[in-house]
Amino acid sequence: MPLSKDNADHRLQRLDQMRKPLVMRSIVLLVGFCLFLIGLHGWSLWTARQHQIEQTGVNTANMARALASQAESSIKLGDAALVEIVERYQHDGLEGEAGVRLNARLHQIVGHTPELQEAFVYGPDGARLASSLPKLYPGNNADRDYFIYHKSHTDLGLRVGKPIRSRSSGVLAIPLSRRINRPDGSFGGVAMASLRLQFFGRFYDRFEVGHTGTIILALDDGTLLYRRPFKVSMVGTDIGDGPVFQLYRRNGPVGTAMLTSNIDHIERMYSYRHLDGFPLLVASAQSKHEILAGWEVTVIKMSCVVIFAVAVLAWGGRRMIIQIRVREALDGELRNARASLELHNISLRALADSDGLTGLGNRRLFEEALEREVGRARRSGLPFALILTDVDFFKKYNDRYGHVAGDACLRQVALAIASGARRPADLAARYGGEEFALILPDTDLEGAMAVAELIREAMAELQLEHADSPNGRVTLSLGVAAGYPAQEAEQASSAWVEAADTALYDAKASGRNRAVGRNGTERMAA
Ligand code: GH3
Ligand code: MG
Ligand code: MG
Repeated sequence: MPLSKDNADHRLQRLDQMRKPLVMRSIVLLVGFCLFLIGLHGWSLWTARQHQIEQTGVNTANMARALASQAESSIKLGDAALVEIVERYQHDGLEGEAGVRLNARLHQIVGHTPELQEAFVYGPDGARLASSLPKLYPGNNADRDYFIYHKSHTDLGLRVGKPIRSRSSGVLAIPLSRRINRPDGSFGGVAMASLRLQFFGRFYDRFEVGHTGTIILALDDGTLLYRRPFKVSMVGTDIGDGPVFQLYRRNGPVGTAMLTSNIDHIERMYSYRHLDGFPLLVASAQSKHEILAGWEVTVIKMSCVVIFAVAVLAWGGRRMIIQIRVREALDGELRNARASLELHNISLRALADSDGLTGLGNRRLFEEALEREVGRARRSGLPFALILTDVDFFKKYNDRYGHVAGDACLRQVALAIASGARRPADLAARYGGEEFALILPDTDLEGAMAVAELIREAMAELQLEHADSPNGRVTLSLGVAAGYPAQEAEQASSAWVEAADTALYDAKASGRNRAVGRNGTERMAA
């Protein structure tokens, strides 16, 4: 019995160890899942944001390309006009009819080209010689930037100048100019055609860049020609130190980046492009705030969903953990109750099996053990022995010392008998009254006689006084029956009691305080 209780305890302990981390594991699992959900949410929002920014970068780059090609074709138109004017002037001069025809031609070109504001031919001293205006107003432009440039530079290429306000019309324009040489190569004057800034403005206004987006047209020395939203005061200012130009100087002719404007301090996605063959730079930009406005709404909506999901999970998880805790507490109580019940059962069983006076096994336990051990010996072929013992002259002991002393004496006797049960399978029991029995499995007659002798000696050592016994001490007579049940005819286990009792009778008859042995039960059975 104790062995199986240990097993049960062990099993319960093991189960306990397995159960303990359940709450912890549930918490870890739940928190882990919530973190995973939040992480996934964060990651998907981040990816959406990057995608939005990349997409805007592509849009602004496409816009910059369209702006650049529009600016290129406008300049090429103006330049084509200049090339023609220079050629006519050099070839035909301005005398008489040729002068009238050149004026008419200038008027015609500007009239048919909406990009152009006006066109002029200046002489070497800066005086107006021909113009696109209906009437040639006299005037001198020797102080103009482009005039001074061409006078001092011999190159005959196109020059795109800083924006100027026309002296004749007052309109803001970008001057395109070429030097005119005399046949001997000396400075002969300047041909100039101006591009209308307003024309660019109208074109740029057609692009969708949001409320805070911008479009920039500038000379590549940093001079601003046009900026949307348009402000006259900004035309001609230097934005060479601004972020777009800094990026241009670092990255070359084409680029896209998130930059913060020096002018209005708005962060934008800028794409710029330098024109092919002309000293101009165009840029378009959309503000970061507007780019991400839709994304921010998604962030708020999705975050609400995720927060709700996490809250539901946390609430459900908390309830689940409470339930697990309650269940564990109940289980704990149940286990405790079961353990104490088991203990109770064990002590009840021990009580039912033991003799009340001596604590040895009782008659019932003895008979069960006898039946079991005889059967086992019959099956295994091992020897079996039974010792029956009876206190000598005990009636007289009772008579002299009283019944209570008699009981105390029996308890001492029981100790002596118990000392003979040295192996786990041995069983010492009170057979009845002042008679005791000792079952010795796997013991032959010789071994059993030795045990009987040990018991007798243990009794002697106790030196219990018995005035009415011949040697003055309480003594025992022992009957030993030993043999091989497997070799005998099958019979009731009580045959071994009878055999041991016969041996006991012999011990009494032959003078008491001794052990008498008997081999097997055969004679008795016979
Ligand atoms: P013998 O040597 O032949 O055995 O003589 P005896 O007096 O011991 O005779 P017997 O074995 O017949 O005596 C049994 C006596 O043991 C009878 C009874 O008074 C006494 N006895 C039996 N059970 C108990 C008990 O539980 N307590 C006490 N105090 N005495 C008991
Ligand atoms: Mg007796
Ligand atoms: Mg007796």
